[in-house]
Amino acid sequence: MMTNTKSYAQKLEATFPIKSMREAFYLPEGRIYFDGNSLGLMSKKAEQSLYDLKDSWKDYGIDGWMQGEYPWYFLAENIAQQMTQIVGANKEEIIVTGSTTTNLHQLVATFYQPQGKRTKILADELNFPTDIYAIKSQLALKGYDESHLVQVASRDGQTLYEQDIIDAMTDEIALIVLPAVLYRSGQILDMATLTTAAHERGIKIGFDLCHSVGAVPHHLHDWQVDFAFWCTYKHLNGGPGSSGALFVHKNHFGTIPGLAGWFGSNKEKQFAMSHTFEPAFEAGAFQLGTPNVLSMAPLIGALTLFNEMGIQRVRERSLALTDYMLQCVHDFLSEYQFTVCNPIDHQQRGGHIYLEHKEAARICKALKERGVIPDFRAPKGIRLAAVAMYNTFEEIYDCFTILQEIMETKAYEKYTNEREIVA
Ligand SMILES: *Cc1c(COP(=O)(O)O)cnc(C)c1O
Repeated sequence: MMTNTKSYAQKLEATFPIKSMREAFYLPEGRIYFDGNSLGLMSKKAEQSLYDLKDSWKDYGIDGWMQGEYPWYFLAENIAQQMTQIVGANKEEIIVTGSTTTNLHQLVATFYQPQGKRTKILADELNFPTDIYAIKSQLALKGYDESHLVQVASRDGQTLYEQDIIDAMTDEIALIVLPAVLYRSGQILDMATLTTAAHERGIKIGFDLCHSVGAVPHHLHDWQVDFAFWCTYKHLNGGPGSSGALFVHKNHFGTIPGLAGWFGSNKEKQFAMSHTFEPAFEAGAFQLGTPNVLSMAPLIGALTLFNEMGIQRVRERSLALTDYMLQCVHDFLSEYQFTVCNPIDHQQRGGHIYLEHKEAARICKALKERGVIPDFRAPKGIRLAAVAMYNTFEEIYDCFTILQEIMETKAYEKYTNEREIVA
């Protein structure tokens, strides 16, 4: 059967054993949404749990901390429990709190303990800017300049070689912070291998899961990862600005947080109001202030859907969708100078594909005007995330036929090749 037909896409959808949960989401009317790796869509369950917590404020006032279906005082721990399968950790090892950036600050403040010759932090040159900003400011706080940040170079500008990272794990490195999935090319780093290599050299290692969580399964506990942190508004569909989360391996329970705050207290003692901080024993110790209850609320519903589908099945469907996207690049765009910059190998491919084209900004504008929502990354990148939970093979077919038409007619020429402020 020809792969470049709508009926082929329909057949894939009809025969693929793992179905989407599309009906559980609000899909933007008349749009094809391929930006779930930047901001996931709202599900009806997420909306419901947001309403439920809004009502708990209305109904209970201050008693909402201990009463109602979702007492606020335990919300961070209870939502952490819903994430255990997704990241492969025990519930005590996870806490929902802060944001990616603040959690990274907390974890580096805690686990970066320069000593003797070991004073440097190892990262990479492809990471998301906020991670690098946070690491540099943590170095400065400990009195070190930027030469103490070692950034592993990419050979091709898109991906990293694990061996290059391992080669950079010298006896000057105190801590390693890396992404689990690179935000542009979508490359998955081999976290298990990197963690083992770091530990063999006496180095602690942590990962940023922003682009992997909810798309790629993890086994943080079994891999012995020291710490990890992530946002919840991308593949996890927690809504704009939903609270982030962090993981600290059980091996490090009892470690004193670098940044102390009263919500990191042992919960039994917190309201004793002592001026001596008694941190919780588990990951909860790394919280700072009062939880952002309303920004956590949608996660209750959103994560319920993940646990219904199961992260392994999410991954299987996601790979089938990106496989088909790559087939479509081949079938529809071969004449138009697109470069596929994501890894092809399943083991290394995250939840989105990444194309480059010198007219990318204008092409994205033309796509948007035709109802397809891509994700532009300056200067010439187009990320397309087919999300297992709500995207379909047919949408991919429609997207690529629209893209082919844009290229064939040069419809993109009527737009300027500049980015908008956000995307
Ligand atoms: C999205 C993303 C962030 C965002 O950080 P916030 O603190 O949530 O704004 C950080 N790092 C990476 C790798 C990301 O993909």
